[in-house]
Amino acid sequence: MTQRCDVVIVGAGIAGCAAAIAYARYGLRVILVEAHRNTDAFKRACTHLIQSSAVPTLRRLGLEAEVEAAGGIRTDLEFHTRAGWVRYPRIASGPDATYGYNIRRSQLDPLLRRTAAETDGVRLLRGARVRELQRDGRRVTGVVVQNEAGELVPIDARLTIGADGRHSAVAGLARVRTIKTSHGRFGCFAHYTGVLDKSGAELVTRGDGPAQATSRLWLLDPDIAYMLPNDGRTVLAAMVSSERRDESLRNLDNHINSIFSRLPGGPDLSNARRVSNFTPIKKYQSVWRRPIAPGLALIGDAALVTDYLWGAGIGWALQSSEWITDATALPLVSGEPMAPALRKYAYRHFRRLGLHHAFNANFATGRKMNALERVLFGAATADEEIGARLLDFGSRKLNPLQAFGPGLLARAWRLHRALEAA
Ligand SMILES: Cc1cc2nc3c(=O)[nH]c(=O)nc-3n(C[C@H](O)[C@H](O)[C@H](O)COP(=O)(O)OP(=O)(O)OC[C@H]3O[C@@H](n4cnc5c(N)ncnc54)[C@H](O)[C@@H]3O)c2cc1C
Repeated sequence: MTQRCDVVIVGAGIAGCAAAIAYARYGLRVILVEAHRNTDAFKRACTHLIQSSAVPTLRRLGLEAEVEAAGGIRTDLEFHTRAGWVRYPRIASGPDATYGYNIRRSQLDPLLRRTAAETDGVRLLRGARVRELQRDGRRVTGVVVQNEAGELVPIDARLTIGADGRHSAVAGLARVRTIKTSHGRFGCFAHYTGVLDKSGAELVTRGDGPAQATSRLWLLDPDIAYMLPNDGRTVLAAMVSSERRDESLRNLDNHINSIFSRLPGGPDLSNARRVSNFTPIKKYQSVWRRPIAPGLALIGDAALVTDYLWGAGIGWALQSSEWITDATALPLVSGEPMAPALRKYAYRHFRRLGLHHAFNANFATGRKMNALERVLFGAATADEEIGARLLDFGSRKLNPLQAFGPGLLARAWRLHRALEAA
């Protein structure tokens, strides 16, 4: 029996649920297809940071308070390089918020899925997998899914969305253009309790207002370590050259301890206890896919898988869901043609993420910092504005061209020369 809707979304992860909620609020009928049967299923290979660039999207979905109620910790970001610390001069709130969130995926994914399932107009099909795309000529007109009972169910839709993650079956079936690049670092992480600041203080501060913490990233050139304080737990992660993968895998506890014990301004681990298994990422690829085809759009990781080092994927899943609904919801409501709206989405996706992805994919090769990066990081330790721009870039609010204009680069260069001469 064919089912009909305005939008069929494959994948009830971050991107799919956010898009389903947004479309349904325009009065559109959405079928959300999810392979997992359990509403509480969540993605395990994730270090849980939501960048501040995605907070306006969470707010627009009306989910910021829910994220905090589910244990989300407001977090700002600090980078350390050989030149020293780069910090925001302040934690702003409101539209210029410099805080993101650390929230466990075991909380975030079920929260989004439940909200989507409870939104009028959304029907969640659990335990169903996409098997085929339906087409009228070149245009995608829906999907065929295999439901829990093993039956093949055709779903007709005016717009089909692939939100089915990095191995997107929808993208594969649509044969969209795909560019994959290899990673040159081996990464692993685990959750710990009892991690304290270097002065022995708790990492998360809980006053009258929302809980707050600072997430720290050490760029050890070329190795990397990061610490993400969470609700009752802290994620400690390290990335080293892939050549050292087998040596690191022999004893991951030693591997993490040896890196964290040498960090400038690193945490106090004397009372730390590992409370999860390690998640080693043995092989990873960055993936860029053309995010549209006739009648079809890809969002989240289905469109773009970036280096997980930067903690950008959740934010980009939320933001790309916002960009696709902004572009297509009104044409869907009014019955206008989809093609111009889809091109608008593809353009916005490229304009917002293209340069970020180019930088991330290149840095993911495991290379050392180049001269320009060393100049910028050095200058950012001494100049608040350059530091704030660097963090706006790192938290993906600004792309490299927006963040570093010629005037700022010239200032960074002069400062770098002055610091070297001093
Ligand atoms: C080690 C690691 C650490 C990371 N840490 C961070 C971090 O700190 N911060 C951050 O922002 N990002 C991080 N990421 C990236 C982040 O996890 C992803 O970018 C994000 O989950 C993408 O969301 P999504 O909704 O696009 O896809 P997913 O969260 O993968 O959701 C896809 C959904 O589609 C469903 N599905 C898949 N195939 C089918 C099918 N055929 N039919 C039906 N349903 C299907 C899946 O079950 C799933 O529910 C990390 C990634 C890794 C690997």
